[in-house]
Amino acid sequence: MAGLVDTWAQESLSALERQHLRRYLEPLQSPQGPHVRVGGRDFLNFSSNDYLGLANDPAVIEAGRAALLKHGLGSGASRLVVGDSDAHVSLEQALARFHGSDAAVLFNSGYAANVGVLSALFGPGDVVFSDALNHASLIDGCRLSRAQTVVFPHRDVEALEALVKLHPGRRRAVVTDTVFSMDGDRAPLRALDEVCQRHGLALIVDEAHGTGVLGAGGRGLGELDDVEVDLHVGTLSKALGGFGAYVCGSAALREVLINLARPLVFSTALPAAVCAAAERALGLLAAPERRASLQARVTQMSAGLQRLGYSARPDSAVFSVMLGDPQVAMAASARLREQGLLVKAIRPPTVPQGTSRLRISVSAAHSEADVARLLSLVSPLPRRGEEGTGEKRKHLEHR
Ligand SMILES: *Cc1c(COP(=O)(O)O)cnc(C)c1O
Repeated sequence: MAGLVDTWAQESLSALERQHLRRYLEPLQSPQGPHVRVGGRDFLNFSSNDYLGLANDPAVIEAGRAALLKHGLGSGASRLVVGDSDAHVSLEQALARFHGSDAAVLFNSGYAANVGVLSALFGPGDVVFSDALNHASLIDGCRLSRAQTVVFPHRDVEALEALVKLHPGRRRAVVTDTVFSMDGDRAPLRALDEVCQRHGLALIVDEAHGTGVLGAGGRGLGELDDVEVDLHVGTLSKALGGFGAYVCGSAALREVLINLARPLVFSTALPAAVCAAAERALGLLAAPERRASLQARVTQMSAGLQRLGYSARPDSAVFSVMLGDPQVAMAASARLREQGLLVKAIRPPTVPQGTSRLRISVSAAHSEADVARLLSLVSPLPRRGEEGTGEKRKHLEHR
Protein backbone atom coordinates (compact mmCIF):
# COMPACT_ATOMS: atom_id res chain seq x y z
CA MET A 1 0.00 0.00 0.00
CA ALA A 2 1.48 3.31 -1.09
CA GLY A 3 1.14 6.55 0.85
CA LEU A 4 3.03 8.71 3.26
CA VAL A 5 3.99 5.95 5.71
CA ASP A 6 5.26 3.79 2.88
CA THR A 7 7.44 6.68 1.67
CA TRP A 8 8.89 7.04 5.16
CA ALA A 9 9.53 3.29 5.31
CA GLN A 10 11.38 3.36 1.96
CA GLU A 11 13.53 6.27 3.17
CA SER A 12 14.44 4.45 6.37
CA LEU A 13 15.33 1.25 4.49
CA SER A 14 17.57 3.15 2.07
CA ALA A 15 19.41 4.72 4.99
CA LEU A 16 19.94 1.32 6.63
CA GLU A 17 21.21 -0.13 3.35
CA ARG A 18 23.70 2.70 2.86
CA GLN A 19 25.15 1.91 6.31
CA HIS A 20 25.12 -1.88 5.69
CA LEU A 21 22.77 -2.21 8.66
CA ARG A 22 19.62 -3.56 7.03
CA ARG A 23 18.41 -6.80 8.61
CA TYR A 24 16.27 -9.63 7.26
CA LEU A 25 14.13 -12.31 8.84
CA GLU A 26 15.02 -15.96 8.24
CA PRO A 27 12.24 -18.33 9.27
CA LEU A 28 13.29 -21.73 10.62
CA GLN A 29 11.56 -24.75 9.11
CA SER A 30 12.53 -26.97 12.05
CA PRO A 31 12.45 -26.83 15.85
CA GLN A 32 15.09 -24.78 17.64
CA GLY A 33 18.23 -26.83 18.25
CA PRO A 34 21.88 -27.33 17.32
CA HIS A 35 20.76 -28.45 13.84
CA VAL A 36 18.13 -26.35 12.10
CA ARG A 37 16.59 -26.09 8.66
CA VAL A 38 16.49 -22.71 6.93
CA GLY A 39 15.47 -22.08 3.33
CA GLY A 40 15.41 -25.80 2.61
CA ARG A 41 18.99 -26.33 3.84
CA ASP A 42 20.29 -27.88 7.05
CA PHE A 43 22.62 -25.82 9.21
CA LEU A 44 24.68 -26.30 12.31
CA ASN A 45 23.33 -23.51 14.54
CA PHE A 46 25.64 -21.39 16.70
CA SER A 47 23.31 -18.42 17.12
CA SER A 48 20.69 -19.64 19.57
CA ASN A 49 20.39 -18.79 23.27
CA ASP A 50 18.88 -22.22 23.96
CA TYR A 51 21.98 -22.99 26.02
CA LEU A 52 20.77 -26.24 27.58
CA GLY A 53 18.83 -27.64 24.64
CA LEU A 54 15.53 -27.35 26.53
CA ALA A 55 13.55 -25.58 23.78
CA ASN A 56 12.78 -28.87 22.09
CA ASP A 57 12.96 -31.20 25.09
CA PRO A 58 10.23 -33.90 25.07
CA ALA A 59 9.39 -33.49 28.79
CA VAL A 60 9.07 -29.71 28.45
CA ILE A 61 6.88 -30.07 25.36
CA GLU A 62 4.70 -32.63 27.13
CA ALA A 63 4.19 -30.33 30.15
CA GLY A 64 3.18 -27.52 27.80
CA ARG A 65 0.87 -29.81 25.83
CA ALA A 66 -0.92 -31.04 28.96
CA ALA A 67 -1.43 -27.46 30.17
CA LEU A 68 -2.59 -26.38 26.72
CA LEU A 69 -5.32 -29.04 26.86
CA LYS A 70 -6.27 -28.03 30.40
CA HIS A 71 -6.20 -24.22 30.05
CA GLY A 72 -6.60 -23.56 26.32
CA LEU A 73 -4.26 -21.21 24.47
CA GLY A 74 -4.84 -17.55 25.23
CA SER A 75 -5.07 -16.22 28.76
CA GLY A 76 -7.77 -13.75 27.77
CA ALA A 77 -6.69 -10.67 29.73
CA SER A 78 -3.92 -9.24 31.86
CA ARG A 79 -3.24 -11.06 35.11
CA LEU A 80 -4.96 -8.31 37.08
CA VAL A 81 -8.20 -8.91 35.19
CA VAL A 82 -8.85 -12.62 34.50
CA GLY A 83 -5.58 -13.69 32.86
CA ASP A 84 -4.02 -15.16 36.03
CA SER A 85 -4.04 -18.93 36.53
CA ASP A 86 -2.77 -21.53 38.95
CA ALA A 87 -0.01 -22.28 36.40
CA HIS A 88 1.29 -18.70 36.73
CA VAL A 89 1.24 -18.78 40.53
CA SER A 90 2.80 -22.24 40.68
CA LEU A 91 5.66 -21.16 38.40
CA GLU A 92 6.29 -18.01 40.45
CA GLN A 93 6.49 -20.07 43.62
CA ALA A 94 8.86 -22.54 41.97
CA LEU A 95 11.08 -19.67 40.75
CA ALA A 96 11.17 -18.06 44.21
CA ARG A 97 12.08 -21.43 45.78
CA PHE A 98 14.75 -22.06 43.15
CA HIS A 99 16.40 -18.69 43.75
CA GLY A 100 15.80 -18.60 47.50
CA SER A 101 13.99 -15.29 47.21
CA ASP A 102 10.89 -14.23 49.11
CA ALA A 103 8.90 -13.81 45.92
CA ALA A 104 8.96 -13.88 42.14
CA VAL A 105 6.75 -12.19 39.58
CA LEU A 106 6.37 -13.15 35.92
CA PHE A 107 6.71 -10.83 32.96
CA ASN A 108 5.86 -11.52 29.33
CA SER A 109 9.49 -11.20 28.24
CA GLY A 110 12.87 -10.10 29.51
CA TYR A 111 12.39 -6.90 27.57
CA ALA A 112 9.09 -6.24 29.33
CA ALA A 113 10.58 -7.12 32.72
CA ASN A 114 13.46 -4.66 32.43
CA VAL A 115 11.28 -1.85 31.12
CA GLY A 116 8.65 -2.61 33.77
CA VAL A 117 10.99 -2.83 36.73
CA LEU A 118 12.98 0.33 36.00
CA SER A 119 9.96 2.45 35.14
CA ALA A 120 8.04 1.20 38.20
CA LEU A 121 10.83 1.85 40.70
CA PHE A 122 12.46 5.04 39.43
CA GLY A 123 11.37 8.51 38.37
CA PRO A 124 12.56 12.10 38.25
CA GLY A 125 14.99 12.80 41.11
CA ASP A 126 16.38 9.25 41.06
CA VAL A 127 19.70 8.19 39.52
CA VAL A 128 20.35 4.92 37.70
CA PHE A 129 24.01 4.02 37.02
CA SER A 130 24.05 1.81 33.94
CA ASP A 131 26.93 -0.15 32.35
CA ALA A 132 27.78 1.13 28.86
CA LEU A 133 27.17 -2.30 27.31
CA ASN A 134 23.88 -3.09 29.04
CA HIS A 135 21.13 -4.74 27.02
CA ALA A 136 18.77 -2.49 25.05
CA SER A 137 15.86 -3.39 27.34
CA LEU A 138 17.71 -1.96 30.35
CA ILE A 139 18.59 1.13 28.32
CA ASP A 140 14.95 1.59 27.34
CA GLY A 141 13.86 1.00 30.94
CA CYS A 142 16.20 3.77 32.08
CA ARG A 143 14.75 6.11 29.45
CA LEU A 144 11.15 5.31 30.29
CA SER A 145 11.74 5.74 34.01
CA ARG A 146 12.69 9.41 33.48
CA ALA A 147 15.32 9.00 36.19
CA GLN A 148 18.73 10.53 35.51
CA THR A 149 20.76 7.83 33.76
CA VAL A 150 24.50 7.88 34.32
CA VAL A 151 26.33 5.52 31.97
CA PHE A 152 29.58 4.13 33.36
CA PRO A 153 32.39 2.62 31.25
CA HIS A 154 32.00 -1.11 30.71
CA ARG A 155 32.89 -3.09 33.89
CA ASP A 156 34.84 -0.12 35.28
CA VAL A 157 34.12 -0.12 39.02
CA GLU A 158 36.53 2.73 39.80
CA ALA A 159 34.89 5.00 37.26
CA LEU A 160 31.49 3.97 38.60
CA GLU A 161 32.42 4.89 42.16
CA ALA A 162 33.67 8.31 41.04
CA LEU A 163 30.36 8.90 39.23
CA VAL A 164 28.37 7.74 42.26
CA LYS A 165 30.14 10.39 44.34
CA LEU A 166 29.27 13.05 41.75
CA HIS A 167 25.58 12.26 41.34
CA PRO A 168 23.37 12.40 44.43
CA GLY A 169 19.71 11.44 44.17
CA ARG A 170 16.60 10.19 45.95
CA ARG A 171 16.67 6.51 45.00
CA ARG A 172 19.93 5.32 43.42
CA ALA A 173 20.79 1.99 41.84
CA VAL A 174 23.46 0.26 39.78
CA VAL A 175 21.98 -1.72 36.88
CA THR A 176 23.96 -4.32 34.94
CA ASP A 177 23.77 -7.45 32.82
CA THR A 178 25.53 -10.23 34.76
CA VAL A 179 26.69 -11.86 31.53
CA PHE A 180 26.89 -9.32 28.72
CA SER A 181 24.73 -10.54 25.90
CA MET A 182 27.03 -9.80 22.97
CA ASP A 183 30.54 -10.17 24.47
CA GLY A 184 29.84 -12.97 26.93
CA ASP A 185 31.98 -11.36 29.61
CA ARG A 186 30.81 -11.10 33.22
CA ALA A 187 30.04 -8.11 35.38
CA PRO A 188 32.41 -7.64 38.36
CA LEU A 189 29.49 -8.41 40.66
CA ARG A 190 31.34 -8.47 43.99
CA ALA A 191 33.03 -5.14 43.37
CA LEU A 192 29.77 -3.61 42.18
CA ASP A 193 28.08 -4.90 45.32
CA GLU A 194 30.78 -3.28 47.48
CA VAL A 195 30.28 0.10 45.78
CA CYS A 196 26.52 -0.21 46.31
CA GLN A 197 26.96 -1.10 49.99
CA ARG A 198 29.44 1.74 50.59
CA HIS A 199 27.20 4.40 49.07
CA GLY A 200 23.72 3.10 49.81
CA LEU A 201 22.67 2.07 46.32
CA ALA A 202 20.56 -0.88 45.23
CA LEU A 203 22.11 -3.51 42.93
CA ILE A 204 19.80 -4.60 40.10
CA VAL A 205 20.97 -7.34 37.76
CA ASP A 206 19.78 -8.95 34.54
CA GLU A 207 20.71 -12.65 34.54
CA ALA A 208 19.33 -13.35 31.04
CA HIS A 209 22.54 -15.19 30.02
CA GLY A 210 23.52 -16.32 33.52
CA THR A 211 20.40 -18.28 34.46
CA GLY A 212 20.93 -21.99 33.83
CA VAL A 213 24.51 -21.39 32.73
CA LEU A 214 26.47 -20.15 35.76
CA GLY A 215 26.62 -21.37 39.35
CA ALA A 216 26.58 -24.94 40.63
CA GLY A 217 22.77 -24.91 40.67
CA GLY A 218 22.37 -22.80 37.52
CA ARG A 219 21.11 -19.76 39.41
CA GLY A 220 23.43 -17.39 37.62
CA LEU A 221 26.38 -15.15 38.41
CA GLY A 222 24.86 -14.15 41.77
CA GLU A 223 25.20 -17.77 42.86
CA LEU A 224 28.68 -18.20 41.37
CA ASP A 225 30.04 -15.02 42.99
CA ASP A 226 27.97 -15.45 46.15
CA VAL A 227 26.45 -11.99 45.92
CA GLU A 228 22.96 -11.25 47.14
CA VAL A 229 21.51 -8.58 44.88
CA ASP A 230 18.48 -6.40 45.60
CA LEU A 231 16.59 -7.35 42.47
CA HIS A 232 17.28 -10.03 39.91
CA VAL A 233 15.68 -10.37 36.47
CA GLY A 234 15.86 -13.82 34.89
CA THR A 235 14.46 -15.00 31.57
CA LEU A 236 12.54 -18.13 30.65
CA SER A 237 13.48 -17.55 27.02
CA LYS A 238 17.16 -18.51 26.93
CA ALA A 239 18.62 -21.43 28.91
CA LEU A 240 15.10 -22.36 30.06
CA GLY A 241 14.15 -22.82 26.42
CA GLY A 242 10.74 -21.18 26.60
CA PHE A 243 9.31 -17.70 26.69
CA GLY A 244 8.79 -15.01 29.31
CA ALA A 245 10.78 -13.67 32.24
CA TYR A 246 10.65 -13.14 35.97
CA VAL A 247 11.80 -10.85 38.73
CA CYS A 248 12.99 -12.15 42.11
CA GLY A 249 12.93 -9.96 45.19
CA SER A 250 10.91 -9.23 48.31
CA ALA A 251 7.18 -9.78 48.73
CA ALA A 252 6.62 -6.01 48.71
CA LEU A 253 8.56 -5.70 45.46
CA ARG A 254 6.24 -8.29 43.93
CA GLU A 255 3.19 -6.32 45.03
CA VAL A 256 4.56 -3.03 43.77
CA LEU A 257 5.35 -4.51 40.34
CA ILE A 258 1.87 -6.02 40.10
CA ASN A 259 0.51 -2.53 40.80
CA LEU A 260 2.90 -0.27 38.92
CA ALA A 261 4.83 -2.14 36.22
CA ARG A 262 3.03 -1.09 33.08
CA PRO A 263 4.10 -4.02 30.85
CA LEU A 264 2.51 -6.31 33.45
CA VAL A 265 -0.60 -4.21 34.10
CA PHE A 266 -1.42 -3.38 30.48
CA SER A 267 -0.53 -6.58 28.63
CA THR A 268 -2.25 -9.95 28.33
CA ALA A 269 -0.79 -12.61 30.62
CA LEU A 270 1.53 -15.35 29.35
CA PRO A 271 -0.36 -18.45 28.20
CA ALA A 272 -0.69 -20.94 31.07
CA ALA A 273 0.90 -23.60 28.85
CA VAL A 274 4.05 -21.50 28.58
CA CYS A 275 4.18 -21.28 32.39
CA ALA A 276 3.68 -25.03 32.87
CA ALA A 277 6.40 -25.80 30.31
CA ALA A 278 8.76 -23.36 32.04
CA GLU A 279 8.15 -25.02 35.41
CA ARG A 280 9.09 -28.37 33.91
CA ALA A 281 12.19 -26.83 32.32
CA LEU A 282 13.16 -25.36 35.69
CA GLY A 283 13.06 -28.86 37.18
CA LEU A 284 15.41 -30.13 34.44
CA LEU A 285 17.72 -27.13 34.78
CA ALA A 286 18.40 -27.93 38.42
CA ALA A 287 20.09 -31.22 37.41
CA PRO A 288 23.82 -30.69 36.84
CA GLU A 289 24.28 -32.96 33.78
CA ARG A 290 23.23 -30.50 31.09
CA ARG A 291 25.32 -27.74 32.64
CA ALA A 292 28.32 -30.09 32.71
CA SER A 293 27.89 -30.78 28.97
CA LEU A 294 27.54 -27.06 28.30
CA GLN A 295 30.66 -26.36 30.35
CA ALA A 296 32.62 -28.94 28.33
CA ARG A 297 31.62 -27.21 25.07
CA VAL A 298 32.39 -23.77 26.53
CA THR A 299 35.87 -24.93 27.55
CA GLN A 300 36.43 -26.47 24.11
CA MET A 301 35.27 -23.34 22.27
CA SER A 302 37.30 -21.01 24.45
CA ALA A 303 40.50 -23.06 24.11
CA GLY A 304 39.94 -23.44 20.37
CA LEU A 305 39.43 -19.73 19.78
CA GLN A 306 42.51 -18.96 21.88
CA ARG A 307 44.56 -21.33 19.74
CA LEU A 308 43.35 -19.37 16.72
CA GLY A 309 44.63 -16.17 18.28
CA TYR A 310 41.41 -14.76 19.69
CA SER A 311 41.25 -13.61 23.29
CA ALA A 312 38.32 -15.83 24.26
CA ARG A 313 37.42 -16.63 27.87
CA PRO A 314 35.28 -19.47 29.22
CA ASP A 315 33.13 -16.97 31.18
CA SER A 316 29.80 -17.90 29.65
CA ALA A 317 28.25 -19.66 26.65
CA VAL A 318 28.69 -16.55 24.46
CA PHE A 319 31.79 -15.80 22.38
CA SER A 320 32.48 -13.01 19.97
CA VAL A 321 34.88 -12.83 17.08
CA MET A 322 35.41 -9.11 16.72
CA LEU A 323 35.61 -7.90 13.13
CA GLY A 324 34.84 -4.18 13.45
CA ASP A 325 33.20 -3.28 10.18
CA PRO A 326 29.59 -4.41 9.55
CA GLN A 327 30.38 -5.45 5.95
CA VAL A 328 33.32 -7.57 7.09
CA ALA A 329 31.15 -9.25 9.73
CA MET A 330 28.40 -9.95 7.19
CA ALA A 331 30.93 -11.43 4.75
CA ALA A 332 32.41 -13.67 7.46
CA SER A 333 28.93 -14.89 8.40
CA ALA A 334 28.15 -15.56 4.71
CA ARG A 335 31.34 -17.63 4.30
CA LEU A 336 30.43 -19.82 7.26
CA ARG A 337 26.93 -20.19 5.88
CA GLU A 338 28.35 -21.59 2.64
CA GLN A 339 29.92 -24.30 4.80
CA GLY A 340 26.58 -25.05 6.47
CA LEU A 341 27.05 -23.05 9.67
CA LEU A 342 24.66 -20.44 11.05
CA VAL A 343 26.73 -17.85 12.90
CA LYS A 344 24.96 -14.54 12.77
CA ALA A 345 26.76 -11.25 12.39
CA ILE A 346 25.88 -8.68 15.07
CA ARG A 347 25.99 -5.03 14.04
CA PRO A 348 25.05 -1.64 15.52
CA PRO A 349 22.84 -0.66 17.25
CA THR A 350 22.97 -4.06 18.99
CA VAL A 351 26.70 -3.40 19.57
CA PRO A 352 28.63 -0.09 19.54
CA GLN A 353 29.91 1.37 16.27
CA GLY A 354 33.13 -0.26 15.10
CA THR A 355 32.52 -3.52 17.00
CA SER A 356 30.54 -5.57 14.49
CA ARG A 357 31.31 -9.19 15.08
CA LEU A 358 30.32 -12.83 14.80
CA ARG A 359 28.49 -13.87 17.94
CA ILE A 360 28.91 -17.56 18.68
CA SER A 361 26.80 -19.28 21.32
CA VAL A 362 27.27 -22.87 22.38
CA SER A 363 24.72 -25.26 23.81
CA ALA A 364 24.73 -28.44 25.86
CA ALA A 365 23.04 -29.95 22.80
CA HIS A 366 26.12 -29.36 20.62
CA SER A 367 28.45 -32.33 20.28
CA GLU A 368 32.22 -32.11 20.58
CA ALA A 369 32.33 -32.68 16.80
CA ASP A 370 29.94 -29.74 16.20
CA VAL A 371 32.23 -27.33 18.04
CA ALA A 372 35.32 -28.81 16.37
CA ARG A 373 33.71 -28.25 12.98
CA LEU A 374 33.07 -24.58 13.71
CA LEU A 375 36.61 -24.13 15.02
CA SER A 376 38.04 -25.75 11.89
CA LEU A 377 36.27 -23.13 9.79
CA VAL A 378 36.95 -20.02 11.88
CA SER A 379 40.68 -19.80 11.19
CA PRO A 380 40.51 -18.28 7.69
CA LEU A 381 38.45 -15.35 8.93
CA PRO A 382 40.06 -11.92 8.53
CA ARG A 383 40.86 -10.57 11.96
CA ARG A 384 40.66 -6.92 12.75
CA GLY A 385 40.36 -5.20 16.11
CA GLU A 386 40.49 -6.94 19.46
CA GLU A 387 38.18 -9.08 21.50
CA GLY A 388 36.33 -7.10 24.16
CA THR A 389 34.92 -3.71 23.34
CA GLY A 390 35.78 -2.05 26.68
CA GLU A 391 35.46 1.41 25.23
CA LYS A 392 36.41 4.17 27.66
CA ARG A 393 35.21 7.58 26.69
CA LYS A 394 34.75 10.40 29.16
CA HIS A 395 31.06 11.03 28.59
CA LEU A 396 29.26 7.90 27.69
CA GLU A 397 25.78 7.72 26.29
CA HIS A 398 23.61 4.70 25.70
CA ARG A 399 23.34 3.72 22.06
C1 LIG B 1 17.62 -11.40 25.58
C2 LIG B 1 17.84 -10.43 26.65
C3 LIG B 1 16.78 -9.77 27.26
C4 LIG B 1 15.37 -9.87 26.72
O1 LIG B 1 14.79 -11.09 27.07
P1 LIG B 1 13.59 -11.61 26.17
O2 LIG B 1 12.94 -12.63 27.02
O3 LIG B 1 14.19 -12.16 24.93
O4 LIG B 1 12.71 -10.43 25.90
C5 LIG B 1 17.03 -8.98 28.34
N1 LIG B 1 18.29 -8.80 28.80
C6 LIG B 1 19.34 -9.40 28.22
C7 LIG B 1 20.70 -9.17 28.79
C8 LIG B 1 19.15 -10.22 27.12
O5 LIG B 1 20.20 -10.77 26.51
